[in-house]
Amino acid sequence: MSVIPPLDLTQQFQTISAEVNEAVLTVLASGQYINGPRVQQFEQAFAAYIGTSEAIACNSGTDALYLALRAYDIGAGDEVITTPFTFIASAETISQAQATPVFVDIDPATFNLDLAQVEAAITPRTRAIIPVHLFGQPVDMTRLMAIAQAHNLIVIEDSAQAAGAEWNGQRVGSIGQVGCFSFFPTKNLGACGDGGAVTTSDPAIAARIRALREHGSRTRYYHDEIGLTSRLDAVQAAILQVKLRYLETWNEQRRAIAARYTELLRPIPGVIPPLPIPGGKPVWHQYTIRLSPLPAGTVGGEYRDRVRQSMQQQGVSSMIYYPLPLHLQKVYEPLGYGPGSFPITEQLCHEVLSLPMFPELTPEQQERVVYALKDSLNPQG
Ligand SMILES: *Cc1c(COP(=O)(O)O)cnc(C)c1O
Repeated sequence: MSVIPPLDLTQQFQTISAEVNEAVLTVLASGQYINGPRVQQFEQAFAAYIGTSEAIACNSGTDALYLALRAYDIGAGDEVITTPFTFIASAETISQAQATPVFVDIDPATFNLDLAQVEAAITPRTRAIIPVHLFGQPVDMTRLMAIAQAHNLIVIEDSAQAAGAEWNGQRVGSIGQVGCFSFFPTKNLGACGDGGAVTTSDPAIAARIRALREHGSRTRYYHDEIGLTSRLDAVQAAILQVKLRYLETWNEQRRAIAARYTELLRPIPGVIPPLPIPGGKPVWHQYTIRLSPLPAGTVGGEYRDRVRQSMQQQGVSSMIYYPLPLHLQKVYEPLGYGPGSFPITEQLCHEVLSLPMFPELTPEQQERVVYALKDSLNPQG
């Protein structure tokens, strides 16, 4: 019996290998490997897709976030509000910029920022909010933008997991002042290496980011400020240009898979399937369930890990995003949070399980996943 992996990049590559190979070979023969027309073409196509006037490609989603913060001069003494239930980069880049991450708890129904608590966390030092569209589920951007505007705050959308997701018909990454994307291979739009982009419709911010990603230089060998070197290479741009044409189809396939999972899981007690919020069109970067309520006599975390192990023994892989929230990470001890600071986040870290999710996943495989899950839920089993 073959193992069902959490995702399978080789299968997707096979479906587009002829186009990708040709695009890569064209770049290799061109002799232009960094910047140049390929990168510009991809930037324009990506901006058009997201719905902004510009996209600035860079080396990673992490750099995209850092560049955005720097472009707004967010730094020492400033506070930036974000979620503790995310990948480290959402907060790490705030720290890299010398500002202070301020965490607020999440809404258990969406895994995203609890917007009532966002408003309560705003202080005179707050400069920006980084909402994370976690697992491809959009944040309620209407409400978030209203809060930001009322307090004159910048909104930097961490859209790393949400390329193509929509809020009220607008793509995420086009609603805040800037959007930040990752093209890490496992993301919905993934390169064959590292890559990222910032999207914005503010030409001055776009120009600042272009300078910052090129050693703080607007004219070659003339440097106005300390920047970094964070570019997308032409080979990755060529690959992404091909893959961008398939993104809508792949996201549709993910939506169909998510709907089928939800249908299969709904009747199973002890499992809470993730549901889209009204107004949101998710892209299901992950399909993450909660194992809740816990069976009597079991401990959160341990129970989930046992279920996961039992599924693995039946040939079904799953993942835990994320086992430890950011406010309890060693690196963030100095911020002074502790166990109990964000109870919903802490509870969910013990309950979540991400099931296999990739566009090529078949209905038969999904049935095997759900069968293995069901079979593993019995605490005695
Ligand atoms: C992947 C990811 C990032 C960082 O992207 P990289 O390209 O890996 O640097 C940032 N935020 C979130 C939510 C992510 O999932």
